Amino acid sequence: MPKLVIIYSLIYLLTFLSDGCNSHKVSSIDPMSQKIDSLIEIQKISKQCILIKFGADALAAINTKKGIIVIDAGISSGLTARYRKIIENEFEGNDFTYVINSHGHPDHYGGNGIFVEARIIGHVNCLQEISEQLNNPGKRLKNLSNVVEDYDQQLKASESNTVEWKEIFTQKTRYLNAYNDAKNLVPVKQPDITFSDRLNIDMGDATLEMIYFGKCHSNSDILIYIPEMAILFTGDLFSKYGRPDINDTLMTDRERWHQAIQWIEKRMINIKTIIDGHGDILSVDDLMSFNNNILNKSLKE
Ligand SMILES: [Zn+2]
Repeated sequence: MPKLVIIYSLIYLLTFLSDGCNSHKVSSIDPMSQKIDSLIEIQKISKQCILIKFGADALAAINTKKGIIVIDAGISSGLTARYRKIIENEFEGNDFTYVINSHGHPDHYGGNGIFVEARIIGHVNCLQEISEQLNNPGKRLKNLSNVVEDYDQQLKASESNTVEWKEIFTQKTRYLNAYNDAKNLVPVKQPDITFSDRLNIDMGDATLEMIYFGKCHSNSDILIYIPEMAILFTGDLFSKYGRPDINDTLMTDRERWHQAIQWIEKRMINIKTIIDGHGDILSVDDLMSFNNNILNKSLKE
């Protein structure tokens, strides 16, 4: 383990040196870097919670008495190093305690390693998902390269600085950063605190309540609720209007779905803010529709 910590520390230091110490110099002369920074959106949810978005890349940070919690880590170390600096400035501190992965997809754990000092929390199935996704690095590199090339072509064909252009630009940048991590063999920092059913963590002035949803969008989807802040994080389980994102059509986890929906309903009256895995803020109506959709789907089975 100490070896890994050293590797992550070195990566962070290198990222910091290349992206941090030179940042004044680089950002003033590097239009690409400036463009990226200009497209990072920071949304203050409350005094203690901020949401950072770069296109579909998103993470939330929560400042507690026992340190900073980060929910999801983006797709890459390059972009997440930028988000880390924003969080440090915002909360005037860098005591990152935990990063929670809402599920085991690369666009949620790719930047874990940037939070060197933090422990990573995720559902136990994340470990298997991550190892499956990484077991063919050659194929992964090729796929990422194709995606970058595809976005590059689209970018050339679109009119500069339009909404469409910005969307393609952020996508290209995300995948290019993921490609760079894969090419440079940046190790993935995997969850080292895992759970199979539920996990609660006391952060002094905030409680992290987590529950496994059951197989749905992935095999490791969890819900994260902070009662003191009335916030629920839903990962990629659903989007606007409560549309569930189900990958497993066999619905083997009906029982778990029911339990998780009951868990949500118990908290429903107190939930004020719902944030999904790509930084969209959903409404309580969206959440209620999702609950109904899931219950209907499992009844039809
Ligand atoms: Zn996902």
